[in-house]
Amino acid sequence: MATHKIAVLPGDGIGQEVIPEALRILGVVAKGSGTTFEFEQGLVGGAAIDATGEPLPGDTLRLCESSHAILFGAVGGPRWDHVPQERRPERGLLRLRKDFDLYANLRPAKCFPLLVDASPLKRSVVEGTDLMVIRELTGGLYFGEPRGTEKMADGSARAVNTMAYTSREIDRVARVAFDVARQRRRRLTSVDKANVLAVSQLWREVVTEVARDYPDVQLDHMLVDNCAMALVARPTQFDTIVTENTFGDILSDEAAILAGSMGMLPSASLGGKTALYEPVHGTAPDIAGQGIANPIAAILSAAMLLRYSLNMGGDAEKVEAAVLRVLEKGYRTADIRQEGTTLAGTVQMGELIAREVGAMY
Ligand code: NAD
Repeated sequence: MATHKIAVLPGDGIGQEVIPEALRILGVVAKGSGTTFEFEQGLVGGAAIDATGEPLPGDTLRLCESSHAILFGAVGGPRWDHVPQERRPERGLLRLRKDFDLYANLRPAKCFPLLVDASPLKRSVVEGTDLMVIRELTGGLYFGEPRGTEKMADGSARAVNTMAYTSREIDRVARVAFDVARQRRRRLTSVDKANVLAVSQLWREVVTEVARDYPDVQLDHMLVDNCAMALVARPTQFDTIVTENTFGDILSDEAAILAGSMGMLPSASLGGKTALYEPVHGTAPDIAGQGIANPIAAILSAAMLLRYSLNMGGDAEKVEAAVLRVLEKGYRTADIRQEGTTLAGTVQMGELIAREVGAMY
């Protein structure tokens, strides 16, 4: 029987409420599939600062290094807002991304038929949306050198950031994107600004080159401004999207509104040996501790962990189908509540989904 070690880092706020529900689901999957998961908890973010003074203690880093995958909650909150920049809770997450070279960030945006009315877009536009944005996460404008602000001779100031990519960095994220597209509907849209930016011209060249290794995936290129429009005008035209760091930051948030609520959005960061899975949302200090947070984003993140780190795509599908079934039965957490539905808290939602997953084995 296979054993998979999973580093569990709930973090702060609702991270500590939703991650136990994701573990509940993985527990049911383990039983049903005959797999053994070894869960080991580690401190990260504000919780780690309180206990050790560091947002990512050495023990946590070592735990992650010795695990097959990392399941992460969320970090931060007003309690740690006064902490110096280099010790802020967010540093824990940034450090993990850097140390593990997690260069590909996967963010699915799926419009659940039952939650169509929670989207700010018209039903006719958003219905059927099922797309994945893959954002390059460790290069581009956010990391390029030179960067900084300088004083000019005339007393004015000048600031600079640099958008830079090597062909190697583009090649590796493109390969992740083609692999993901292969597991979906085999269509990949590469988004750039090749009519203006030299970086984008190289991006387009390299992605086109990589496409030769994936003749079964249909590739097209789109300018980022056009993509921003198309995402809200015709979101159903997309399957998988790959783009550089800054464009991806903006487009993935734009795509997020298609799904209706932050509480529904999972993510994965792939690259190095150990991938990291986390809900897109933060620690939600406004509702933390009340037992009302939506655990679905965390549960769907666990499904992504099964699919992308453990090659358990069939089990991931069971988890996703179970979420759908519970929504079909009319249960909703407060953030996605609609008239005529039954309100469920965090734990109850987790239990309902767990029951449905169990019934599928
Ligand atoms: P947030 O995602 O925590 O909350 C935004 C809004 O969405 C809030 O009204 C919240 O109640 C709601 N919400 C979020 N997740 C929900 C869920 N699962 N169920 C129901 N409602 C949910 O974003 P924010 O308020 O901007 O940030 C709060 C804290 O979280 C900050 O300290 C921020 O730095 C941190 N943060 C961390 C991460 C991360 O760890 N990856 C990401 C974003 C924000």
